[in-house]
Amino acid sequence: MTLRVQKIEATVVDHPVRSNGAIVSFLGRHEASRYVTVTLTGDDGLQGFGEATTAPIWSGESAETAKWMIEHFMSPRLVGAEFEHPSEALVILDGELHGNAFAKAAVDAALWDLWARMQGVPVWRLIADREPVEWIPTRVSIGAYPPEETVALAVEFWNQGVRTLKFKTGKPGIDDVARLRAVRERLGPEPIFTVDANGAYPTADDAIRAIEALLAYDLGLVEQPTPRDRLAMLAEVRRRVSVPVMVDEGIFTPGQLEDALDQDAFDILSVYPGKNGGFTHSIAMAQRAQAAGKACAIGSNLETDLGLAPMVCLAASLSAFPVDRYACDLMAALFYKTSSVTPPIVFRDGCVALPTGPGFGVEPDAQYAARH
Ligand SMILES: [Mg+2]
Repeated sequence: MTLRVQKIEATVVDHPVRSNGAIVSFLGRHEASRYVTVTLTGDDGLQGFGEATTAPIWSGESAETAKWMIEHFMSPRLVGAEFEHPSEALVILDGELHGNAFAKAAVDAALWDLWARMQGVPVWRLIADREPVEWIPTRVSIGAYPPEETVALAVEFWNQGVRTLKFKTGKPGIDDVARLRAVRERLGPEPIFTVDANGAYPTADDAIRAIEALLAYDLGLVEQPTPRDRLAMLAEVRRRVSVPVMVDEGIFTPGQLEDALDQDAFDILSVYPGKNGGFTHSIAMAQRAQAAGKACAIGSNLETDLGLAPMVCLAASLSAFPVDRYACDLMAALFYKTSSVTPPIVFRDGCVALPTGPGFGVEPDAQYAARH
């Protein structure tokens, strides 16, 4: 089936985020989600949608730079072209544009969405290598707050059915040992604890010291303890600690994944389309990691339901994601007051439901999309 792109539009949207319990990490505070909604129109008038969850600290992209790149750089290269598969567009974009991962991912997701809608099927039908998991366990981030606030957030999320808690750690002035101890004392042994330092520790010794101080509170994994561009340091930490290591911002691209596999730098790969520069790359990278004996879990840049839908699709349909063992960062419902899409993605008892409609199964609310 031939895909022809007639029009690509990018709309900057401010999504209100909860103010109490906003995610605070070593990298700063996630106060606002100023993102881009991509509306891609095919020859037959059908539309596909994507979201660029831009954050300058994460990928060097803002909503405004992403919008500009999509409208003035990507669109002229894709409009009017013919594709037999959505991944062909990314070959063109990657060949002519370095970086801009989140902007590329929004366009790539919109192409997959349109491609599946043209066939009248959900995307998971086109990529699944297993019977899709209908309810995916969510892992939720708890910002680097003092113990009392940390406990309050942990209890809130626990009461909503979330069983895996991700504590943001390594922020100067915050006592991580006291925080994790307080939550264990309050909630007992059942919650799975993970920690994400977002590269806070400047040396392997610093990272190992911080991790070992937390081992008494039973960690399921440690995420990105060392700076994102210090892969060898991450590999050293992995060799020297007893807990599984997850790599997140240390691996954006397929090439970085190969490097990390060469160095055996991680146990679990954090995968998501925005960071990977496309849904297409996320599939390939998850399958590559799986073939190398690694597990994958979905990471996040606090997507709204629009950006969440491709992530849910990946988690549900690929066996590279052992979702019962490693919960996924599918937390839009816990941080946004309202859903950005119709129908909203269902969150219940700590799990997110796989949408069943064509494409990724959701459409942006009318006020966010460029509809004509
Ligand atoms: Mg992370």
